[in-house]
Amino acid sequence: MASGKDPSQPLEPEEPFHSLISDISSLASKSKKESQSAIEETNRLFAILESMAEGVLVADTEQKVLLLNSSLAQAFEFNKKEAVGRFYWELFRDTEINEMFTTALKEKSAIKKEHALLFSKSVFEIQISPVFTADDYLGVVAVFRDITLLKEFETLRTEFVANVSHELKTPLTSILGFVETLKEGAIEDPEHRLKFLQIIETQSKKLHSLIEDLLFLSRVESAKEPLRLEEVDIESLFEKIMEIFQPIVKEKKMGVQFARFDKPVLVTADFIFLERAVSNLVDNAVKYNREKGQVWMRAFQDRDGVKIEVKDEGIGIAPADLTRIFERFYRVDKSRSRELGGTGLGLSITKHLIERHGGRIEVESALNQGTTFTLILPK
Ligand code: ADP
Repeated sequence: MASGKDPSQPLEPEEPFHSLISDISSLASKSKKESQSAIEETNRLFAILESMAEGVLVADTEQKVLLLNSSLAQAFEFNKKEAVGRFYWELFRDTEINEMFTTALKEKSAIKKEHALLFSKSVFEIQISPVFTADDYLGVVAVFRDITLLKEFETLRTEFVANVSHELKTPLTSILGFVETLKEGAIEDPEHRLKFLQIIETQSKKLHSLIEDLLFLSRVESAKEPLRLEEVDIESLFEKIMEIFQPIVKEKKMGVQFARFDKPVLVTADFIFLERAVSNLVDNAVKYNREKGQVWMRAFQDRDGVKIEVKDEGIGIAPADLTRIFERFYRVDKSRSRELGGTGLGLSITKHLIERHGGRIEVESALNQGTTFTLILPK
């Protein structure tokens, strides 16, 4: 039966078809939108995972890697693409890490441990947790946090506390010992009591300078202590230092000197801090010098900035020690340093002081010939 419509024209859908098609097309566009938003959501999650500093790896209940992020791939030198789909124990080859995965997967409970890698210095805090969806158990997610630096700081702090305690204990033991001896009768002995009191005085002074140095070091290290910057004329700084060292140098029949400047050498610095930095170097140059030795100070400006040199003709420092002398409490010859009233903190204070000014310290030395320390302050 003829419909009475022109067959060359596209068919107009009948009413029920029309609504069905419109339903289907709206469903299709809805599901297209939904799947698009699901893709966007997944992309967002991957981007978050990728930007994490922590390493992340997800393993399924079959012990196979579902996904891992770049931080983990980098830390363990895995090829990210090749790692997916492999067993986690093929990748890690570390018994302790693999045991953590196995236990977490089996017991469906979280595990957290600090673990030092066998073949590198890195230490990780590893947390492996089970992953559950509404009605399923997917496997586990492992988060690896690199705590190597934190561990190093912890070790340094423990060592520092141990060193400080030891350094404080030595003079204190001596003081207490001599007080005890005096109490036990030596106080009645005019010849010895003065000698003992002098020892107590010397040891107390050592304690005092150690505590002073420690407080000063913590002041310099603390970013809270602001630098009081001003224009410092190095020649007047040298004059002040000469004044400070005059009595001791005279007593030791030594000399501290500097050549007069043709033109002023100026630097922007905290005067008190800079004076302390240079004084520490001059103090060492006097302490570790030969008998009746000389100390020279010099300052000049070059391309790197202002350089301040302190040079002596003393015992010198062996190459192996040169790399360590800036560490706190490091001394080449412990008993010699203590005898001379050293605390083992002078050079580390000087280094910190100069670094706070954005500068650096250099040293050159030859055994039994002398040492030159150079402070370099940027323009
Ligand atoms: P100290 O209080 O022991 O002098 P420092 O931190 O100032 O501590 O110096 C660390 C060590 O470096 C000293 O104990 C000494 O062994 C060595 N040292 C420093 N300056 C000189 C120098 N000018 N000549 C030779 N040795 C030096």
